[in-house]
Amino acid sequence: MRFVNADRRAGLLVDDQVFDLHELSGGAIPADPAEVVRHHWQAALDLHAAGSFSGGRPVGDVHLGAPMPDPRAVYAVGLNYRGHAEESGMELPAIPAIFTKFPTSLVGPFDDVVLPKGKFMNDWEAELTFVLADAGRYVAPADAYDAILGFTMAQDISERATQFQAMSQFSMGKSFDTFCPCGPAIVTLDEIPDPASLRVVCRVNDDVMQDERTSDLIFDVPALVEFISSICTLRAGDLCLTGTPAGVGVTRKPPQFLQDGDVIETEIEHLGLMRNRCVAET
Ligand code: ZN
Repeated sequence: MRFVNADRRAGLLVDDQVFDLHELSGGAIPADPAEVVRHHWQAALDLHAAGSFSGGRPVGDVHLGAPMPDPRAVYAVGLNYRGHAEESGMELPAIPAIFTKFPTSLVGPFDDVVLPKGKFMNDWEAELTFVLADAGRYVAPADAYDAILGFTMAQDISERATQFQAMSQFSMGKSFDTFCPCGPAIVTLDEIPDPASLRVVCRVNDDVMQDERTSDLIFDVPALVEFISSICTLRAGDLCLTGTPAGVGVTRKPPQFLQDGDVIETEIEHLGLMRNRCVAET
């Protein structure tokens, strides 16, 4: 199943058509995407499995928002690809380096990223992202995929000056409004042959900046689920950005940062593509 937030309503994406879950279910499933992710996921799966779709609209005719627009937590992982740890000149971490992006930073997969006034070190980070289920605490790695509703992707846009101000201020430097484009869909595991080997690509104005497979992850998805759930209760709809591959702007020689008018494309195998234009805050 590919679950989308189309014009702020829960929808199924089937080929290039969006079907409204509320209408398709005769009103049994609510229209609010966050409600469906939190409380009606199984009903959406059942409806999808039944396979009778009518009344679709072309996906190009709707505005796609973040598929889970209102998570209570957005976890993110620093330095989780070997190549990125290397380019950052850092030792491989012994445990996952988790920070949070505030949910207020979420926008849709084709929305603009606003480059904040007076901030000039805005950087891209393409990331495989998983959407948690209501799975409680202490999830063993072997049970991790049962603790996940599906996968999506996100950009962990980062303003490097803020990020490294006041010692390390990761959460603020990565939480300016619009700094978390997410989508286009939440894709269930049955549509993804191997989450441990997905190609993650980030282009800026058609130049390939990042191109790596998730097999380069230091802490894989089961390890992240185990670690986070050893500390926090996993709740349906919470997101986890799994870290970014090598190729960010700040470590380039010379460094390269996002400019007004730049277009960021993020693409992950089996999950689709996001395209976000950068606009300077006025
Ligand atoms: Zn990141």
